[in-house]
Amino acid sequence: MRLSRYLLPLLKENPSEAQIVSHRLMLRTGMIRQEAAGIYAWLPLGLRVLRKIEKIVHEEMQRAGAVELLMPTLQLADLWRESGRYDDYGQEMLRIKDRHEREMLYGPTNEEMITEIFRGTVKSYKDLPMNLYHIQWKFRDEQRPRFGVMRGREFLMKDAYSFDIDEASARKAYNRMFIAYLNTFSRLGLKAVPMRADTGPIGGDLSHEFIILAETGESAVFCHKDLVDMPAPGADVDWDDLQGLVDQRTSLYAATEEMHDEAAFNAVPADKQLSARGIEVGHIFYFGEKYSAPMGAKVSGADGSQVNVHMGSYGVGVSRLIGGIIEASHDEAGIIWPESVTPFDVALVNLRVGDEACDAACEKAYKALKAAGRDVLYHDTDDRPGAKFASMDLIGIPWQLIIGPKGIAEGQVEIKHRATGERHTAAFDAVLEQLTKAK
Ligand code: ATP
Ligand code: MG
Repeated sequence: MRLSRYLLPLLKENPSEAQIVSHRLMLRTGMIRQEAAGIYAWLPLGLRVLRKIEKIVHEEMQRAGAVELLMPTLQLADLWRESGRYDDYGQEMLRIKDRHEREMLYGPTNEEMITEIFRGTVKSYKDLPMNLYHIQWKFRDEQRPRFGVMRGREFLMKDAYSFDIDEASARKAYNRMFIAYLNTFSRLGLKAVPMRADTGPIGGDLSHEFIILAETGESAVFCHKDLVDMPAPGADVDWDDLQGLVDQRTSLYAATEEMHDEAAFNAVPADKQLSARGIEVGHIFYFGEKYSAPMGAKVSGADGSQVNVHMGSYGVGVSRLIGGIIEASHDEAGIIWPESVTPFDVALVNLRVGDEACDAACEKAYKALKAAGRDVLYHDTDDRPGAKFASMDLIGIPWQLIIGPKGIAEGQVEIKHRATGERHTAAFDAVLEQLTKAK
């Protein structure tokens, strides 16, 4: 991508409405633009990151056996009357009427709709277990939209729904999502801690929020320190038997404010007690027959009887994650993208546009990097070098390839690593080879 042809509306000043660093940096780097309170347009740079996160979420969902579909954003109010949630949901739900005066709503979540799809399409226990998911925009008319994409009104969520014949099987489905979440967040460069969450009237122990620690987090959290540095299990696990891995994590204390038990926390060795603030990036929940019973989602069991399916739902805040990643990875100069979600792999900085040798070397590098499948942002405008360096640091691309007239005359270029700040000069060909070699 040539910067001269791109839309990258950088802001020099800190926008006054942004209270936390991720919101500030997302606005300053032109990733998003507010269109209404809590409603954002995703500008090209922001959309690239959103897509990279989606891709990782898709891969990890499918690795865990979930199947993608796509449900609409608009839903019929009558569907929500079946579960009893239409009246309960309150002002967070955006209610709309179509031209025939039919009551509709912009979906804040999809339990009802997926239950409707399931009951209309799946008939037998032989089709279970099943896990269906999508990544779709949600709308919640939050009382206090704030912190940019962190608490938006329109936001992108991955929501998965599991269907099982009984509770034991549902627990396995839950465990698969539990492990998939750990792997997902780890690939995004985040340390997410599963914390016990409220199960409300359903009861049981099968609800966890996945929390990343950050000073700007909205909730107070308490946990055993070892949980923070525990490595993710990875893809190479026995997906049919994950109980040991789950127990390993759930046996250590971890709870948000609402679930906090002071006495249990005090039983954690003093040097292992961590009380901090956190951002909820995911939530998994087993709720049994809560929707299947009132909505009549049944399958025939092995003995021919009709049984309500046992369900769970599993959400990831895909757009919120971008804020979370930036909170966890930035410095005074700007964002530092983890390689897995960076909008571009390499920033190619031409220090003197119009200089024949610089232009030729940059064109060569640009072509070679693209051919190798790298996403390149070619800084080809006539800004001063200082301004180019500052803006590339601000948008946080992991590698900067800097080509100037003095160096290139001797076949030398500079390479800068954004995360460490290290710069070194090396032969152009050697640098190109390093940046284009297979990952
Ligand atoms: P919160 O307590 O932050 O309001 P929630 O419990 O309402 O979250 P869920 O209904 O479990 O959230 O939704 C699944 C995920 O969607 C959450 O873990 C979070 O990452 C994300 N999410 C929820 N509300 C918002 C929002 N207003 N803006 C952005 N992401 C959100
Ligand atoms: Mg909420």
